[in-house]
Amino acid sequence: MRKTLSLAVGLLIIASLVLAAGTALAAGTLTMGTNAEFPPFEYVEGDDVVGVDVEIAAEIAKDLGLDLVIENMAFDSVIPALVSGQIDIGVAAMTVKPERLNSVDFSNTYYNARQACIVRKDGKVADEETLAGAAIGVQNGTTGDYAAEEYSQTIERYAKALDAVLELAGGKLDAVIVDAPVAQNILDALGNDDLILLDNIAFEDEFYAVAVPKGKPDLVESINKTIDRITQDGTLDAILLKYFPATEGEE
Ligand code: GLN
Repeated sequence: MRKTLSLAVGLLIIASLVLAAGTALAAGTLTMGTNAEFPPFEYVEGDDVVGVDVEIAAEIAKDLGLDLVIENMAFDSVIPALVSGQIDIGVAAMTVKPERLNSVDFSNTYYNARQACIVRKDGKVADEETLAGAAIGVQNGTTGDYAAEEYSQTIERYAKALDAVLELAGGKLDAVIVDAPVAQNILDALGNDDLILLDNIAFEDEFYAVAVPKGKPDLVESINKTIDRITQDGTLDAILLKYFPATEGEE
């Protein structure tokens, strides 16, 4: 009787440990967390999440012999999901930032981007001076959000950059700061001639990498091997060309 009881208690403890680990990672899969609102890096097409990052993650999964599973979430949930063990890797056009290195590790980088500032042609923002103090829209928790803080305290934070751009078009905001490739993609998709990109704001270079839970050097090494391979064998260029057809070689 005593034995049965301690066995039951033991099983209960094991069950709660498994639950505490979050969505226990299924064997044979590599779960990628991303925010599929960031074209062309990740976006929803029909029932699928597609984009540059999805293709890179598929190469990583292939080299590891695992099936790729995608979890779509808010951008600012990706790091917490890595920390809690809900996902294996974060592939979300994520810029390597010293603050983020406190919570996660990063692979080698695979893309060089920078921020861009979208404004209305007839709006009040035309340069760094007029950006100061303006109403700036950003995607919550992104490097665009941090960049906006350098210029203004009037910041509106959105789950999607597209929503911020629509508010800018509608006159509710003076500017939107978002990663340049995504800014261009959104402007191309909207085809609104009133919206332009400023080229006179000094933003820093940013580098995207795959985020990994801390303390997994083997996983980081495998990811780096895949990034090296796809860089050398032309796969990465082919992926970029597929999603940036008009801006060949922009890397
Ligand atoms: N590169 C930006 C960052 O890391 C934006 C990423 C995103 O919104 N998916 O904060």
